[in-house]
Parts: sequence; C-alpha cells; structure tokens
Amino acid sequence: MKHVRGRMIVAVSGGKDSLVSSIMLKRLDIEHELFHINLGIPVFSDESLSVVSEFAEQYRLKLNVVNIEDYAKKTIPEYVPFAKKMYHKDKPCALCGLFKRYIMNKWAWEHNFDYIITGHNLDDAASTIIMNIMGQNIDQLFRVAPVIERKENVKMVGKVKPLYWVREDLIKQYVSKNNIRTVQATCPYAASVHQNRIKDALRTFEKTEHNFMVNLVKTIKKIQKIKNISISKNVEVLPCERCGFATTSKVCKFCRIIEKVD
Ligand code: SF4
Ligand SMILES: [Zn+2]
Repeated sequence: MKHVRGRMIVAVSGGKDSLVSSIMLKRLDIEHELFHINLGIPVFSDESLSVVSEFAEQYRLKLNVVNIEDYAKKTIPEYVPFAKKMYHKDKPCALCGLFKRYIMNKWAWEHNFDYIITGHNLDDAASTIIMNIMGQNIDQLFRVAPVIERKENVKMVGKVKPLYWVREDLIKQYVSKNNIRTVQATCPYAASVHQNRIKDALRTFEKTEHNFMVNLVKTIKKIQKIKNISISKNVEVLPCERCGFATTSKVCKFCRIIEKVD
C-alpha cells in the first residue's frame, strides 16, 4: 500500500473482507470513503445496507450508496429470468459480478477517486488462478494482482487489494476477536457459486499441504516476472464506443446487456 497515493474508496458489501480492508486503512491512517451497491435482493441487501451504515457511523466514514437499478435498469432478482433466457444459467451471479465491477469503476471515476479498495483475500486470488487454469484462460491468469494502476484513456480507476496475501481464516479470526458485525444473511443465489467449491477444495488441500495457496500465487507471479508478461500485454483494452469505459471489444459487455433489457 505504501506507494499507492490518491483518493480512495473502499467497496463494502457488508461482508468481513471489505470491512476489514477499511479497518486496515484506518489503522494505517489512510483517508478513504465507503461505497456500497444495493443489489435489491430481499433480506440480504437490507441487512447488508444496515451493516455498512452501522460500520460507517462507528468508524466515522462517509458512506456512498447507489441502487443497482439506477445503472442496470433492474435489481438482481429481476435479472434471474434474463440470465436463464440469455445465458441458460439458473443464477444471476455472472451478471451481478459484471454489474458490480462496472458500476464501482464508473462511480469512482465520475467522483474523481484514484483507487478502489476491495476485500479480495488470498483464497480469492488462489481460487481465481485455479479457475483460469481450468478454463485455459491464460490472459486472465496473469491479471490476478494486488495492485492494478489507473488507466486514463479507458477511464479505469486503479484497484488495490490490501488483504491479497491474507488467508480467509485469519480474517475470520480477526472479525470474531474484535466483534465486528458482518452480514449474516446469505445471498439466495450463493450456494452454486463455482468459485466457492474451488475455495473449499483449496482449504482442504491446504490442511496437509501448508502454504499451498501462497506458493501458488507466488509461482504465478514468478512466471510472470521471468517471462516478462505484462498484465495487459495480450489484451488490447479500448474505450467502449457507447460509454467510453474499458472493453476488449467495440462495445463493452455492460452496454451490450443493457441494450437488450427493457
Ligand atoms: S451470490 Fe451471486 S447474486 Fe449473490 S451477491 Fe454474490 S454474485 Fe451477486
Ligand atoms: Zn460501454
């Protein structure tokens, strides 16, 4: 975090990881605000908003809240039929992830923030690497990084993951030791998230193969360094013809989806 300078916003979901990221920044005396997207998921989103509001008050941080339908036209549950029809998926998770990333970047860009801080931890990094290996997705494999710098030409705000090298079980321990209130409700779509199954497998493996996750992430970094692979070397990122935000095709995925939605 030391070399990262500028206006920072922490994307908080109400989950332990993002809240702990904000606490870490506070402890390092790094000024920041909070940003929350209300996904419109009954019970889960209401509790998430209550948790982040209470957190903001307790830590005296400015909380910025946006509603997903103001950007994506609909709430996440309203996207379920669309996900079924267009992508033959029972759950809206892929769309939800894409919307969150897009909205977060757009909002931060338009409000002149330099970095978005997220709660991604070591388990997230290791499981993303495994998923990219399983999908033979080489370009994405080297995009897993703790810091991604801002890119002016494609209106991309920098991204920082302060918990990148921290195992999830340590974050859980910190939260319980410090009585930090986090969302207890589970998103009704969470059960089938493919990445969660990979994380469970990795944690089981880690019990006998100590430091497997950290070694896996370090190995990818080493290959990247030895082979001099830049994060954006193989992927040409251009401004979207409609919205001007980053895309690898003429029109970004967000704009393409929104055009299909009534
Ligand atoms: S489980 Fe899926 S739908 Fe629920 S918040 Fe996560 S990505 Fe969104
Ligand atoms: Zn676009």
